[in-house]
Amino acid sequence: MRAVTFQGPGEVRVDDVPEPELGSSDEAIVRVEASGVCGSDLHIYHGRVAIEQGFTIGHEYVGTVTAVGDAVSRVAVGDRVLGTYCTACGECFFCRRGDFHKCDAGRVFGHGATLGSLQGAQAEQLLVPNADLTLRRVPEGMSDDVALFAGDVMGTGYHAVVECEVEPGATVAVLGLGPVGLCAVQAALAEGAGGVVAVDTVPERLELARELGAEAVHLTEEDPRAAVKALTEGRGADATIDAVGHPDALELACRLTRKAGTVSATGVYAERIEVHMGIVWIKALTLKTGHANVIKHVDPVLERLAAGTLDPSPMVTHHMKLDDAAEAYDVYDRREALKIVLTP
Ligand SMILES: [Zn+2]
Ligand SMILES: [Zn+2]
Repeated sequence: MRAVTFQGPGEVRVDDVPEPELGSSDEAIVRVEASGVCGSDLHIYHGRVAIEQGFTIGHEYVGTVTAVGDAVSRVAVGDRVLGTYCTACGECFFCRRGDFHKCDAGRVFGHGATLGSLQGAQAEQLLVPNADLTLRRVPEGMSDDVALFAGDVMGTGYHAVVECEVEPGATVAVLGLGPVGLCAVQAALAEGAGGVVAVDTVPERLELARELGAEAVHLTEEDPRAAVKALTEGRGADATIDAVGHPDALELACRLTRKAGTVSATGVYAERIEVHMGIVWIKALTLKTGHANVIKHVDPVLERLAAGTLDPSPMVTHHMKLDDAAEAYDVYDRREALKIVLTP
């Protein structure tokens, strides 16, 4: 079968790789009908996240189940399904608490040996462990483009908002308007935020945030602090979501948030950085961090996608063929696309 494989920094290739086979009884095989290219794939592409040469990448997918092991009961052959970007055992200390994203045996699709050696979803077929927990049926009438957001990007935006305990009428600031930031904008409004201040520097992204209902503010040409203050009688945002993953964004998030508010560091941090603990402490901020618990959130997210209160379809800017993946990564790397959907 055809699959997008990592070859070295800046190089992916569409290769013929062995077809997956069922191993243990909890697994399923999915014929992938659409897969997404994600910002975390770009970390692999650039060699910042190390994976083996020849490993298949991708972790956002929609398709049809073609085989299931004996122990799989929630999905069956012929079901149209979507999946989460990661798997969990469902039984360890963390899974029993519902912290599936911190499962002791958790694995991530398309991220090489360090994250569990699960071959990726930018391929014609995908082997899915613990299928009852990882897969969901796609609700009737939902497009591939929308469904493949449920198991990663929208799940992450929704997680950020839920973790911040956004109350009806609250003011939320979102820093960074890539797909996760834009999903957070939508999720905040869907959960009842009274106002969302969306900050970025890319005009197209600001425009899309505006169309989604946010007050879009250019990071350097306008004044995010003034925009937030104007909406909150000078208090600051009830919650700020840093969807960038950069010390400057985290610092701004701490400054934009009101006393006793919440900052969610949703962007990826992997190194030691400086946080102005004085601001965090004096303002009594709550800091939320870490991967999104997409397995926990996938059902409520699907409900909202099915109802149309969340709709990521405007974020899909490109449809390309799996065979053109090298070009797709090139386009994505040049930041000319928000979300690229690959089809076989
Ligand atoms: Zn992703
Ligand atoms: Zn577990």
